[in-house]
Formats: sequence, structure tokens, C-alpha cells
Amino acid sequence: MTLSDILKEKGIEDFSAIPLEHCLVGNRRLYDSLPRGCYAVFMLFPYYVENKNCRLAAFAAVPDYHLFAKELFSELEEYVKNKYGAFARGFTDHSPLNERDGAAKCSLGIIGRHGLLISRKYSSFVCIGELVCTLTEAQLGAEGITVGCNDIAYCEDCRICIASCPAGCADGDKSLCISAITQKKGELTDPETDAVRRSGSIWGCDRCQLSCPHTQNAIKNGTIYTPIQFFKENVITGDENDVESLSDEEYKKYTFSYRKRNVMQRNIDIIRRK
Ligand code: SF4
Ligand code: SF4
Repeated sequence: MTLSDILKEKGIEDFSAIPLEHCLVGNRRLYDSLPRGCYAVFMLFPYYVENKNCRLAAFAAVPDYHLFAKELFSELEEYVKNKYGAFARGFTDHSPLNERDGAAKCSLGIIGRHGLLISRKYSSFVCIGELVCTLTEAQLGAEGITVGCNDIAYCEDCRICIASCPAGCADGDKSLCISAITQKKGELTDPETDAVRRSGSIWGCDRCQLSCPHTQNAIKNGTIYTPIQFFKENVITGDENDVESLSDEEYKKYTFSYRKRNVMQRNIDIIRRK
């Protein structure tokens, strides 16, 4: 069993490493706590499942990827420690590194105009995680992990994603981005409330991602769907009533639980006032 075997067994097919010194800093405090001269193994967690009638963005309808990453990294850290006596720590989202930059330098995808990493198979419906470890390049090679820092590639800039934005983010003004507004605490302004009502979404927005030709191709070719079992179970497939009826225990399994329930309830109330 190697590190790449463990990753593949979990459904993680895209991973590659770069030396830490080639990474951009994400969180400075976390970055300074890392040993020098180590490698970051970047990996993609594809999460897309077919879910047409849901009022949640795709990432919100599936169980929280932080929970998936926590379990995965605990296994990987243990594996590296037991086999090599080396340091290893996994991160996702709250990271010492700029994840999009690192994944692009590992050639796990290109960077889209909409600001997200676009992978060949899953388009932008991926979360990024990274295992920072003190394994040598030779040890990583023996574990089935390639090492190499490449130039970042960008999308074709067709701007379809910009044109499809219901909030008119075409001019780069993200102040009415539905994804940001639905996750915002407190009372919304009238224009924000109106933007949520018109979108019909109670958490997040996938419009720019879905309109991208890379996503459309991935759907057409059938490659976009997650192979990770964790994301295929407990998917919220219903409407706002199903979200509202989740018990507090169930609610904690989804990413939207990082906000208090009253934020979600506010959004539900807005779309009900249609
Ligand atoms: S997430 Fe939605 S509202 Fe935000 S930029 Fe993309 S399409 Fe526009
Ligand atoms: S829709 Fe076009 S411009 Fe936008 S991310 Fe996709 S390829 Fe790039």
C-alpha cells in the first residue's frame, strides 16, 4: 500500500506535489509553523452529484468536505509517521498555502476567469486539499506521487461565465454575488434581498460555473460526477423545506453550518416571500 493507493481507494485521482518554496503563502501564521524544505501534495476532492431541483449550490447539498478531509488527512498523517517517522499535516480551505495557485502549479487544472480552478474531468466542482510533509522527492516517488512545479495555465477567456451571472458581476463588481450574499451574516440590504429572491437560491450559486464550456463538456462526457463515496451519501435533493426540517445534528454535517441557522432561515424566508 502506498500513499497514492490510499488516495485512489478514496476516489481521489488527481494529486501531485511541489516543493513548499514554490507555493504562495495563504495563512502566514500556519505557514510559519511548517518545517522548512518540505513538499506539499495537492489533491482534488470532486463533489458534483446530479441534483437538479435543489435550492442549494452543489457544494452545499453534499456533506461537508472538511469532514471528509479531516478523516482522510488523519489516515495519511498516521501512514507517513508510521512508515517514515516523518512530519505530515493535511489542510483544506483554512490553509498555510494558496490552494488554487498550488494546484495549478501541480497542473491539476487551469485557472478560470470566474476565479476557480478548472480540472479536466470535474471542471470547477472540486475542493482542494494538500498534505504538507517532510518526505523526500525519492520517497514521494516511491509512494506514487509525482513532483514538479509547472507554469500556471489559464482558461480561454470566452467570458460566458461573466455573461451568465444573474447579479451582473460582469464588470468585476462582486458586491451582489449571490454566493457571497447568501452566506453573509445579519440583515441584507434591499438590493441584496432582491438578488437572493430573484436567484431562488438559499445557499451559494453555481451559475457561472455551470455555464462554463468546461463544465458543459464534463457533464456531456459524464466525467463531472464525483467518484468519492462520502459525497454521494446524505445529499440534500429536496427544496428549502428539506433544509428547514434537518435536525441540529444533521445540519452540522453540511458546510452551511459554519453559520448560525438564522442565516439560512433568513434566505428561506426571502425566497418564500416571492
Ligand atoms: S456565483 Fe453566481 S452571482 Fe456570484 S459571480 Fe458566479 S454567477 Fe455571479
Ligand atoms: S466560461 Fe469561459 S471565461 Fe469563464 S471560466 Fe469558463 S472558459 Fe473561462
